[in-house]
Amino acid sequence: MKIGFIGLGNMGGPMAANLAAAGHDVSGFDLTAPMPTGVTKADSAASAASGVDVVITMLPNGAILRSVAAEVIPAMQANAVLCDCSTVDVDSARAVADQAALAGLGALDAPVSGGVGGASGGTLTFMVGGGADAFATIKPLFDIMGQKSVHCGDAGAGQAAKICNNMILGVTMIATCEAFALADKLGLDRGKMFDVVSTSSGYSWSMNAYCPAPGVGPESPADNGYQPGFAAELMLKDLRLSQQAAGSADADTPMGQLASQLYETFVEAENGQGMDFSAMLPRFEKRGRD
Ligand code: NAD
Repeated sequence: MKIGFIGLGNMGGPMAANLAAAGHDVSGFDLTAPMPTGVTKADSAASAASGVDVVITMLPNGAILRSVAAEVIPAMQANAVLCDCSTVDVDSARAVADQAALAGLGALDAPVSGGVGGASGGTLTFMVGGGADAFATIKPLFDIMGQKSVHCGDAGAGQAAKICNNMILGVTMIATCEAFALADKLGLDRGKMFDVVSTSSGYSWSMNAYCPAPGVGPESPADNGYQPGFAAELMLKDLRLSQQAAGSADADTPMGQLASQLYETFVEAENGQGMDFSAMLPRFEKRGRD
């Protein structure tokens, strides 16, 4: 396929490289990032998008997606598909899908889980909203960039799945970290705590796969001085999106709201910026009851 790839940062770069390595003809555009191996540099987003079958975007947020979409949609050929893999708000995903439909294009919102390691290794999970025809067209590309793609429903359903998943992740990571801090103060050995909880009803991905305590459980950012991994500010971004969505959908999400507030304090007032999101554990360790 001919593919235009816009946004070649930490995630988009390796995703585009994997498509090129699989034999696709990929032209790329980014404001600053270098071209990945095998990707031909385009002079603008519009020129990356013209004459291709698929445009993939991997951008920082919904406002940037909307402005890039306004530039690329008029440049795309009829029946091409615009596939956004960024994590953005549900409203922006739906607005871009509406614009694409008006121009006779297919559109998908297809945010990912799996981080930079998953992008490099081609093991991402895609959660996808949009039409069945567009999903069928892009599925072979998802299969190169990832190990799983789930068609979740109409436009916006992929972003909805992503923010609900990450709201659970933020809440369980905080719960796991505060439980470790409590266990410390009760004199419980961390290895014993992991051994019990990881095979008991308190288990979760945060405990079992990404344990926030150094030297305990599988290798994780805690074993590397809490270098990300998944940065606390990216978790804050996703929690804010969940709370924005909860506001527009009139949903009661008290734990998500509190998790969002805690990560906001951590990132903006407690030097959490640039730390992995599991660095909530040393944060709790330093604190007392008040
Ligand atoms: P990044 O900042 O490394 O990459 C974004 C790229 O977009 C940058 O290279 C930037 O120059 C480019 N860009 C910005 N505006 C542009 C424009 N107008 N035209 C062209 N290029 C433009 O970010 P990332 O870590 O690659 O994340 C990208 C998206 O993936 C975000 O929405 C993020 O939330 C999501 N995501 C990231 C991770 C992760 O672990 N990094 C995991 C899952 C999802």
